[in-house]
Amino acid sequence: MDLFKIFIYDTSFDFMLEILIRCTVMFILVLIFLRISGKRGIRQLSIFELAIILCLGSAAGDPMFVKDVPIIQAFLVMCSIIILYRMTTWLMMKNKIIEKLLEGEPLYIVENGMLVISDVKKEKYSHDEFFAEMRQQHTEHLGQVKYALLETDGCLSILFYTPEDTRWGLPLFPKSYFVATDYEKEIFYSCMYCGMTQYLQQLDQVCSRCDHAQWAKSFNCPHA
Ligand SMILES: [Zn+2]
Repeated sequence: MDLFKIFIYDTSFDFMLEILIRCTVMFILVLIFLRISGKRGIRQLSIFELAIILCLGSAAGDPMFVKDVPIIQAFLVMCSIIILYRMTTWLMMKNKIIEKLLEGEPLYIVENGMLVISDVKKEKYSHDEFFAEMRQQHTEHLGQVKYALLETDGCLSILFYTPEDTRWGLPLFPKSYFVATDYEKEIFYSCMYCGMTQYLQQLDQVCSRCDHAQWAKSFNCPHA
């Protein structure tokens, strides 16, 4: 292995200076183009917008250090991308079908204190990720949640039950989210997979919604 080849190879001092200038110009261009695109930050990005950013990024990257790529070419590529982006967003505003195709639709994850079973089975999202997001929004258990909606930009919108309407539900914090080992007749248990909450005949009972058989003790404290 030739370390000199990996790190330096045929890089001249002149070209190092050139890289500095190229990077500065491309960095400023990317900033300007992101401003033109009208986006504010990463949290609002849909898949479609992320694709635009990736295209901009790769157009900006090459001329930073590839000798044979003049900045004007990258500039033209970025102009085309932004024009396409503007045209597409305009089309999406005019046409709902195109908007659905490109942005996707909001997805119900929780309905009435339970995970939406069809999506759980399809594994469209991971439990861990989703539980973490719910915890960040101060959800202690699923019985507090009337609806949770996964928006097209990846954010989770939660509509909580009022304290009076809060139900028994699956706890989401690790110290309470574990398989129950002692059985009691008159307490609620929640399916650890789908959030189904009920009395049990025995602890290895199969969940009628999702066919899993792991139960945690339910919580019913209201959302603070
Ligand atoms: Zn279940």
